[in-house]
Amino acid sequence: MTIQTPQRIGLFGGTFDPVHLGHLRTAIELAENYSLSQLRLLPNHRPAHRDQPTVSTAQRIEMLEIATQNLSQLIIDPREAMRDKASYTFDTLTEFKQECPDSTLIFFMGQDAFSAFDTWYRWHEILELANLVVIDRPDANLSDWALNLMAKQADKIGDRIIDSATGVIECCSVTQLAISATDVRQRIANRQSVDFLVPERIKQYIVKHRLYSEARN
Ligand code: ATP
Repeated sequence: MTIQTPQRIGLFGGTFDPVHLGHLRTAIELAENYSLSQLRLLPNHRPAHRDQPTVSTAQRIEMLEIATQNLSQLIIDPREAMRDKASYTFDTLTEFKQECPDSTLIFFMGQDAFSAFDTWYRWHEILELANLVVIDRPDANLSDWALNLMAKQADKIGDRIIDSATGVIECCSVTQLAISATDVRQRIANRQSVDFLVPERIKQYIVKHRLYSEARN
């Protein structure tokens, strides 16, 4: 009899406006480091914690699909993007748990997002549905609230994502690429190069569809 180990599914949300090499390098390393069966990239439609994105949802999804064409472990999951109301991580994780009850879920977020995690809808319950990995971001610092929660976690000796189904919070370092979508958008608006900040095919898509040519932020 073969004993099947539960599948480990990673979830990595964001605006991806546009997807850049910082996202992609991070996603590949997370999938490797946590031996994920798959890492789902979840573009937001109307982010609950962010301003509205500057291009259409369909275009952001198309760019993600182009960028991940040869990366089979990365799967674009448009469910949040397709919702016509504010998308909450709690709702998404509840859905996943119903769809894959035997899988372990790992939700990944940057330090910037984790610092405000206490403002997220039903954040306590998010930890009952998934484990959480906080990714080091260049130039980001954790809030006092986040540091306190991490310190409490550190007391739970022995709890590691590798053998826990839910409720563990870990930090993770990935190769630091100080790229942000804000900076990519600004460079395009300023007619500057975005070579080696986004994949070549994304650059071509942006030029073809004349995206981000007006400065917004
Ligand atoms: P913006 O500049 O518009 O705020 P962003 O570049 O931070 O965008 P998001 O779409 O907000 O990108 O990010 C999605 C996820 O990717 C978040 O968890 C974020 O912390 C992470 N992320 C973004 N850029 C990087 C990077 N350079 N390295 C590691 N993680 C990143």
